[in-house]
Amino acid sequence: MLAVFPTMPYQPFMNKEKRISMARHALLEWHGIFGRHDLPWRRDMSPYAVLVSEFMLQQTTVATVAVRFAEWMKIFPTLSDLAAAKEETVLSAWEGLGYYARARRLHAAARKIIERHDGVIPREEIDLLALPGVGAYTAAAVRAFAYNERALVLDTNIIRVLARHANLIAPIDRTGGKESLLRIADAFYPAHNCRTMASALMDLGATLCTSGMPACASCPLKPTCLALQPEQIPKKTARAVTTKQTEFRVWYFYKNRLYLEASLGSRWQGLWILPELGDNKPKGRPLGEITYPITRYRIKMKVYQISLKPHEGLKGFTAAELKKIPIPSPHRRVIEKILRKVAA
Ligand code: SF4
Repeated sequence: MLAVFPTMPYQPFMNKEKRISMARHALLEWHGIFGRHDLPWRRDMSPYAVLVSEFMLQQTTVATVAVRFAEWMKIFPTLSDLAAAKEETVLSAWEGLGYYARARRLHAAARKIIERHDGVIPREEIDLLALPGVGAYTAAAVRAFAYNERALVLDTNIIRVLARHANLIAPIDRTGGKESLLRIADAFYPAHNCRTMASALMDLGATLCTSGMPACASCPLKPTCLALQPEQIPKKTARAVTTKQTEFRVWYFYKNRLYLEASLGSRWQGLWILPELGDNKPKGRPLGEITYPITRYRIKMKVYQISLKPHEGLKGFTAAELKKIPIPSPHRRVIEKILRKVAA
């Protein structure tokens, strides 16, 4: 991106209010030209669209959500449509976004809004926080984006920009760092039009003030930015080490049907998964395998072809039916991989 904004160094004599006022002005000017105005949820800032997009964006990338959001809004155009849908339909529509608990919570939140708020998504923080799946960030995002209320929206991108701009060197996952960050955000967010300021901060963090080495030379905040070593901000305490695990699953294909079982675990409750093999894994090579991450685990799934006795929760699906039922992404990936291998 071209450097079209002044790149003069920070002037140490500038007082805090003036520095922030200049920063806001430069940022909004930059955002008018370079903001990501074409994101689907920026075109429709209705409370329902904001709620859906914020649930999706909690743990999924912007690129994936940009596609899936539009599809979702075709299936469930209104909050009432979502609240009236069966859970299985909701989980199917969520497929590919991962972390299915979010879909269940969004569904439950829609039903609660119908029951308790006559179908109107609340604007007060206390009411938003009482909804399933809505934490401090999502409540602030709904208040700012849907209702243009003053709320301190702090996602990863915004935290990075604000922490660097103020040269916050305390770890932001410790109490002192968190409190400093809130003070910095409170000073930066204006009294009015939080919606545009949050979008602008987000977009700067996504395009110029990125993690790793930021593009300071092109940044509209350069004249007011205090960061001395921006690539080292924000600081966090050491992360937990990733743990490797292996799990063994069953491939039971009989009379043109693949047998899956309904997951009872909280993560994938209501979804269909390859049955677990237990500890007596067969010798030899698995029919298929994939690796996938879940929180701090890196899991290798190995799938073996064996026959199973019918049991409760086990059900056979044809290839056409497999496309319609909710299956978590790692399981679907390995199923499709094996089906391609068998057909070759
Ligand atoms: S890109 Fe550089 S100048 Fe701009 S806010 Fe980030 S650290 Fe500061």
